[in-house]
Amino acid sequence: MSASSSGIQLQALTKTFGPIHAVDNIDLHLPANRFVCLLGPSGCGKTSLLRLIAGLESPDSGTISFEGSDMTAIAPHKREIGMVFQSLALFPHLNIADNIGYALKIRGEPRDAIEKRVTELLDLVRLPGVGKRAISQLSGGQRQRIAIARALAIRPKLFLLDEPLSALDAKLREAMQVELRQLQKNLGITTIVVTHDQREAMTMADHVVVMKSGKILQHGAPLDIYRNPANAFVADFIGTSNLITCRVKDAGTVEANGSTFTIEEIPTTLSEGDEAVLSVRPEEVLFADPNKSENTLEATITFIRDLGSQVEIMLESAGQELMVTMSPKDRPDVGQGDLVRLHLPAAASKVIPK
Ligand code: ATP
Repeated sequence: MSASSSGIQLQALTKTFGPIHAVDNIDLHLPANRFVCLLGPSGCGKTSLLRLIAGLESPDSGTISFEGSDMTAIAPHKREIGMVFQSLALFPHLNIADNIGYALKIRGEPRDAIEKRVTELLDLVRLPGVGKRAISQLSGGQRQRIAIARALAIRPKLFLLDEPLSALDAKLREAMQVELRQLQKNLGITTIVVTHDQREAMTMADHVVVMKSGKILQHGAPLDIYRNPANAFVADFIGTSNLITCRVKDAGTVEANGSTFTIEEIPTTLSEGDEAVLSVRPEEVLFADPNKSENTLEATITFIRDLGSQVEIMLESAGQELMVTMSPKDRPDVGQGDLVRLHLPAAASKVIPK
């Protein structure tokens, strides 16, 4: 099988609900055995896309292939998919073991084989020996693990999860993100998770798909997207960025807030005179000597947030809000209301289309 036919291939995939284009003519190849996060703001079409892949919705047009086979018209239960829903949808009247073994029982597998598989899965999600307990006796994080074990019971080829951690508190959620990532690494199963939390996506995924209004704005390795966002929306959605309106002067410089900035690389799609956005991550911005003029701008400090492990300094420059972050040991001797000069290093400054 060629590299392009392994994994999932979506072609011209469209799903509308009345006038809403929930999934709008999407072409996408997701490589096999990856941990993929569908990421985007509420209503951008993440769940619709996941449900199309699962077969729980039918597309208006387009195709979905898995490992080179067209599965657009295949019924959900024949797609060999394990799915975890936001609500978990565990059966309250069945005990833990029966919840996990449910799909195997429906398939008519022998009782001892089901028992063996349930034991294996309980070990996998690190809850050995709890099979006889009721679902109501579990904590939120434990329920999450049982839902994962249940979805994996049939040894699916594709593991789909829709906002699986959204009901958990922040600490448990972060722990489960790491656990889910480890589990996927150990099993090597192609996994797609829907989330609107960019930190969650950066923690778990080796392939992130950023969506907006039913379309894919950018996809790839999380750090590549963080370092080279395709547009201002992605730059702002994946992490925080200072987004400064600018105008392209020539192949190596832009003008912003009345100052000229040298840039290492300006996209070839932009020409002289075009309006664009100068994007610099908060951790890359430096406090400059007041006499330095190259790649600098003046800004007034509006607020300083001291978080203990990190200092966040909010500023305003020509009507635009900016942020600089640093470790407490690098904090400059400045206070709210001070007029300061910021340096935007050329290597860390990206010019992106508006
Ligand atoms: P969220 O993060 O809020 O769950 P999402 O990115 O998963 O959002 P979808 O649930 O896929 O987005 O919805 C995409 C668009 O399609 C939204 O405008 C939504 O209102 C609409 N939509 C989704 N399902 C239906 C449906 N069954 N009937 C009508 N409209 C729907």
